Amino acid sequence: MNEKDQAFYTRGHNPTVAVLRQKLAALEGAEDALLFSSGSAAISSAVLAHVQSGDQIICIANPYSWTDKLLTKMLPRFGVETVFADNGDIETFQNIITDKTKMIILESPNSVTFEQQDLVKIAQLAKAHNILTLCDNSYATPLKQKPIALGIDLVAHSVTKYLNGHSDVVAGTICGRRELIDSIFHGPYMTLGGVINAHDAWLIIRGLRTLEIRLERTTQSALKIVQFLRQHETVDRVYYPDQLGTGLFSITLKTDELSQIELFCNSLKYFLMTCSWGGHESLIFPMCALNHSQNYQASQERPVSLIRFSIGLESSDELIADLTQALSLIK
Ligand SMILES: *Cc1c(COP(=O)(O)O)cnc(C)c1O
Repeated sequence: MNEKDQAFYTRGHNPTVAVLRQKLAALEGAEDALLFSSGSAAISSAVLAHVQSGDQIICIANPYSWTDKLLTKMLPRFGVETVFADNGDIETFQNIITDKTKMIILESPNSVTFEQQDLVKIAQLAKAHNILTLCDNSYATPLKQKPIALGIDLVAHSVTKYLNGHSDVVAGTICGRRELIDSIFHGPYMTLGGVINAHDAWLIIRGLRTLEIRLERTTQSALKIVQFLRQHETVDRVYYPDQLGTGLFSITLKTDELSQIELFCNSLKYFLMTCSWGGHESLIFPMCALNHSQNYQASQERPVSLIRFSIGLESSDELIADLTQALSLIK
């Protein structure tokens, strides 16, 4: 890109956005990156740029809810079908690949129960079959995992989460080889126009400056809290990917009673209740709050008492004290 291109028209080029593109590409070890007005816009644009009627997509089970909507509700209208892999094993992927498979969509770890896939093996398998791979890396961030170095073609982020980290921007990115980024740019990026504005790009550049220190702090606190919860008598299970862990984890309680789950959640004083994550404030998200929406149904893998925690930058001792008092109310 020359300087004239960078200032031609902000749907395509903008000097502040150009700085951020370079920073994100550098972080992910990619040739280029595009910024979108949301993580969902980024993922759907990357997929739309690379599939056509008759193609098949393979996706890991239980992806992010709006990725799921794209694959199960929108794309079938245009003749693109998706098969979901039951687990992250390489054999599972081997068995469901067909001549029609065009793309493999991964989230490793995913952002609710944190299952992981073997990115190296899946990337090798995909390459051998000329299949494009996309990995949602929002959870681990490029500081903990660089999917491109592991052989993945495209990396997606909800920049809304850790990369911005201040809960004041909704944005997304796709990072990858220039040729792939170009086809997204000249296709869905410019046509659908889900682009970021310069002010949000500026806020994200501000956010990136503290990414490392924020992630260190939240990971340290989360580790302490995970340890505390793992040995707590009212907690059934803690879901945390120890090797790649950041500040997001989930628990299930030993009770299935909604009144008890509500009592616990409503009694926390330092955790706000909402569905986002990756910001400076600690949040909880009881999955049963989605019971009445079509986005969620309790299942064996996702029990009714599943609650997700995003640990912020507060004192971990205060957060543990808060959890102690709220857990003590559960009968
Ligand atoms: C939030 C999220 C998204 C979507 O990002 P938005 O910025 O909210 O559009 C995609 N993937 C994961 C894992 C997320 O948590």
